[in-house]
Amino acid sequence: MSPHLFSGSTLDAYTSGVWHASALLADRVKAVRQPYSGATVGDLQGQVDAVDLDRPLGDTGAALHEVARLYVDNAVWFHEPTYVAHLNCPVAIPALSAEVLISAINSSVDTWDQSATGTLIERRLIDWTAGRIGFGPGADGVFTSGGTQSNLQGLLLAREEALEGRSREANLARLRIFATTESHFSVSKSAGILGLAADAVVGVATDGTGRMDPDALVAAIEGVRRDGGLPMAVVATTGTTDLGRIDPVDVIGPICESQGIWLHVDAAYGCGLLVSPRRRHLLDGIERADSVTVDFHKSFYQPVSCSAIVVRRGETMRRIAVHADYLNPRTATVPNQVDKSLQTTRRFDALKLWMTLRTMGSEEIGTMFDTVVDRAAEVHAEIARDPDFEALAAPTLSTVLFRYRPDGMTVAECDELMPRLRQRLFYGGEAIVAGTVMGGHYWLKFTLLNPNTTMEHLANVLNLLRLTGRDLLGEKSGAAVMV
Ligand SMILES: *Cc1c(COP(=O)(O)O)cnc(C)c1O
Repeated sequence: MSPHLFSGSTLDAYTSGVWHASALLADRVKAVRQPYSGATVGDLQGQVDAVDLDRPLGDTGAALHEVARLYVDNAVWFHEPTYVAHLNCPVAIPALSAEVLISAINSSVDTWDQSATGTLIERRLIDWTAGRIGFGPGADGVFTSGGTQSNLQGLLLAREEALEGRSREANLARLRIFATTESHFSVSKSAGILGLAADAVVGVATDGTGRMDPDALVAAIEGVRRDGGLPMAVVATTGTTDLGRIDPVDVIGPICESQGIWLHVDAAYGCGLLVSPRRRHLLDGIERADSVTVDFHKSFYQPVSCSAIVVRRGETMRRIAVHADYLNPRTATVPNQVDKSLQTTRRFDALKLWMTLRTMGSEEIGTMFDTVVDRAAEVHAEIARDPDFEALAAPTLSTVLFRYRPDGMTVAECDELMPRLRQRLFYGGEAIVAGTVMGGHYWLKFTLLNPNTTMEHLANVLNLLRLTGRDLLGEKSGAAVMV
């Protein structure tokens, strides 16, 4: 009998293995003072390459220590308050307890006979989410690996709906998706995967703040119809990745209804508003969507992966069901989630959300999200007052775009300096910020998801950017003098 396989007779090895991993993690995290060690690709590449994968250490403890050195000591820590870069959150502890169960029991929520209660729990959570969205009893959905997969599936359902009763061959190249340039890049990626034409994603103009302009949407739809195209879907984003803007779904919904076009709402980032005590109204109209992407691993503080696609009319999912005699025959009388998923074997990620809701409740989640949205407004005002920095427009959610641009620096100089500043900060390890290009110019970005990030932390990050920026400018003039 293998001593390394989980079973009723290896429980000592199991509990010691899990205990050692969590003890080691706790020990290392206790000493963490900054989000990154500062190690370079070169440093880490050498260490990873030096491991001989064909010579096992034979002992979990020894393997854990090796991993601690390679991975844990050089991890990027999202719980550190000066990690303010991407949409990564500190994770809810009840969800980590769930992970222990999920990985050892190893349920697969594709068919009932591999998951049992797992399937029922997942379904309850889909119903709960649909309720929060405001969908009626006909709603359905499934957990996915992330917003990218949810967007792909939403658009797949839209494609099938648009092709209903039409020749696939004759119409595939005519299909068009309407989205703004602020929409997530997974929208164009999906269009490619779905076999649509290269110009299938039609850009809809924004109102100047980055929100979809409904009049421009109507004009774009009319233009497409005039040119012989077939409108397939409108993608409205409620919480764009860079600016956090919320497309006006309350106006876009009725347009889609009257035009007979599928409305997919990408709430990957903004889904935390569903449980926000103070900002739920920002999602008004989302209940008119045909499909909605929610990323619990962003604004619901869940460990990756934990996401879902939720649809208003459950029957639209049936169109993608494929049956296999060995898995989910047509005659099945039990609930098989695989009928609705793009995946087959699938993690029981829903248990993490379940444990979180049963332990903390949704209001605490929503309050944490409200806190970071408040903080973004505060830090934006702070940046706007600081003569060394320039802030882009006021935030809607929890991202803030800004740049270090002291008196006398041209925009071109600033564009050149910002990526270097961001990189220098990263390898310093004390704080991590993101960067993006907006209107052809480079901006630094704070993405706040950690409610433990205070104004003091953010002031420290700004000062660090200021000092690092000065250093870089000094090095540049120093170099010029040397030449
Ligand atoms: C993050 C994000 C996605 C993609 O989600 P993943 O979970 O990273 O696949 C899609 N849309 C928006 C608006 C996002 O912010």
